[in-house]
Amino acid sequence: MKIKKNVPLIDQHDKNGFWGGKFGGSFIPETLKKPVEDLTILFQKLRRDKNFIKKRDYYFKNWVGSPTPFIKLENLTEHLGGAQIWAKVVSEANGGAHKIYNATVHCLIAKRAGKKHIVGDTGAGYAGKMLSMAAKKFGLKCKIFMGAKDIKRQKPNCDAMRKNGAEIVPVYTGSQTLVDAVSECMRHWVSNCDSTHMAVGSTVGPNIFVKICGWSTSQISRELSIQIKDEFLKIPEKLKLINCVGGGSSSFGFWNEFMHYKKKQVEFIGVEAGGPKNSKKHAAPLTYGSKIGILHGAAQYVNQSAEGQIEETESISAGLDYPGVSPLHCFLKDAKRARYTAASDEEALRAYQLVTKFENLNPSLEPSHAFAEAIKLAPKLNRDTVIIVNSCGDAQKDRDILRQRLGKF
Ligand SMILES: *Cc1c(COP(=O)(O)O)cnc(C)c1O
Repeated sequence: MKIKKNVPLIDQHDKNGFWGGKFGGSFIPETLKKPVEDLTILFQKLRRDKNFIKKRDYYFKNWVGSPTPFIKLENLTEHLGGAQIWAKVVSEANGGAHKIYNATVHCLIAKRAGKKHIVGDTGAGYAGKMLSMAAKKFGLKCKIFMGAKDIKRQKPNCDAMRKNGAEIVPVYTGSQTLVDAVSECMRHWVSNCDSTHMAVGSTVGPNIFVKICGWSTSQISRELSIQIKDEFLKIPEKLKLINCVGGGSSSFGFWNEFMHYKKKQVEFIGVEAGGPKNSKKHAAPLTYGSKIGILHGAAQYVNQSAEGQIEETESISAGLDYPGVSPLHCFLKDAKRARYTAASDEEALRAYQLVTKFENLNPSLEPSHAFAEAIKLAPKLNRDTVIIVNSCGDAQKDRDILRQRLGKF
């Protein structure tokens, strides 16, 4: 499996939509073929449309708050005594995480398609919250499909969605969680596609949704590459870009602009959720899984039993608690362009403590997984190695669990 140099990674799939010939695709009911095809044609047109790009850039700058800061963590670097540690503080974006990039682009597409309604699914609630925020901004009526069980567990995010004027549709089928919310959302889209646009919250789902999301979050590395050149005058000889991986949208967006560098110069390290120490449960299909399954309309590495049943995941971080992963990352793993590992709940908590002890930075539990790997690596490396961690979320949302586990926030 090889990565081409001059083609964007989101376009390196075969004619059936599979990256590396086996990851991705578009496993959808017959009734969705037409709306998916229409969306594909529209997106291919818009991404080459100068006015659309201008609009996107305007809202990224003036509403999302791009570029987000790029800072050196001097105290943490001194304490660990090895490689330089830097952070790209994406949590400074509007809403406190990177999901706003994808939500914004989906709303802009919906407007261009003349749709008045937008629907999306959500598990932990962050994708739904961000979509409801963007829908409010762009004057779209928003419906969020959410498992009944998740609604009970994620009250603050549900309150935020309602405050933004979104309707939450509870899903009572199956396990009453994300997987079922996705199916229900797609069913709704089938019967309402003339008036309604559908958004998927990460680089997952049928091929076109992977592409739209990856295209949107790539803003992170576009900014970063300029910021690195401002600081270092060129891309350093030894650069490591570390990011947590749930569905894979922040990590893909953090790496995309550096895809054409040799991995000896720019290494990509993805950190999945290893779950509680001493437990078999995790949310790390790239690190611990090896079997491909179909989830969310696409083929990917997925946590599954010997019979192919999707297995329950567990992680301290809601944002990483997903049994599958983007086909883009499956491709990067098989092509050996990125390295994937996992951090346990406990390692993420320890990393959170260390980072907040030394720095004025408050990474949520998802990026704390990435910091755990940076903390492990840095002391073994020299000062000329530059480690950058994508601090993609703010811990304000995790305050209850941090108080519970660490006794303080
Ligand atoms: C949703 C979320 C994630 C995981 O999703 P990706 O698509 O892998 O980025 C990670 N961090 C935060 C803060 C999130 O909200």
